Amino acid sequence: ETAVSLSNVRKTYQVGQPVHALDGISLEIPRGSYTAIMGPSGSGKSTLMNLVGCLDTPTEGEVVVDGRDVSGLSDRERTSLRGTEVGFVFQTFNLMPRLNALENVALPQLFQGVSRDDRRDRARELLERVGLGDRVDHMPNELSGGQRQRVALARALVNDPAIVLADEPSGNLDTDTEGEILDLFAEFHDAGTTMVVVTHERHVAERAERIVHLLDGRIERIEELGSVGPDD
Ligand code: ADP
Ligand code: ADP
Repeated sequence: ETAVSLSNVRKTYQVGQPVHALDGISLEIPRGSYTAIMGPSGSGKSTLMNLVGCLDTPTEGEVVVDGRDVSGLSDRERTSLRGTEVGFVFQTFNLMPRLNALENVALPQLFQGVSRDDRRDRARELLERVGLGDRVDHMPNELSGGQRQRVALARALVNDPAIVLADEPSGNLDTDTEGEILDLFAEFHDAGTTMVVVTHERHVAERAERIVHLLDGRIERIEELGSVGPDD
């Protein structure tokens, strides 16, 4: 079963000369898989993530998310899909500075018609799952980089999305904190979540089952790492 399928996808930006940010990409991301995307700056990683995450639409080709062709959906239709199907973890965390950890995590459920008490219960549960049960009242500026990243991860997971997309998830983190975040990714992957992680770091990519290498808007090669089960 396929979580995301891209067929002959092109994304062209017209700024004077046309730039083919993605130049004919076909890729299947199986449900429950763990994929890393690598490539030099400008190779199309962010553009690919934006398409998979329904933030943007392709110039040509087809993007199918959870069996649904999303290439032609309106902004509004894609917004509602994003809340439920796809969870995002950005490099810069994108936390609301005036909301505490619990409120930040509860926020995406606002658009899903969940009651206030249920939102808070669910947010607390997710924060406990990422090891921040004792930090729910803290504001983002009262948290360390790794803790903020964990809040962002809890927020990405609060609506129980089928797919989690992470862009440079450990970009600004020290080695120990990065290890904790990657262990959490592995846990969510083991629980059945489809993980897609963009990274420049080889050792981060190696936690995935396969690495998709992008170059100049194309897939240069796909490296299968072979999945190592928890009992191996
Ligand atoms: P994005 O992935 O958002 O398009 P970039 O790929 O330009 O952004 O860079 C993301 C971060 O990784 C930046 O902090 C940048 O300085 C750093 N970076 C960019 N290219 C490389 C590289 N080849 N090796 C290591 N770090 C890089
Ligand atoms: P990466 O994430 O690998 O660094 P991007 O997907 O951000 O690469 O960019 C791929 C190419 O598309 C780059 O040449 C970049 O300059 C171009 N590009 C990205 N976004 C835009 C945009 N909004 N307008 C014009 N060109 C863009």
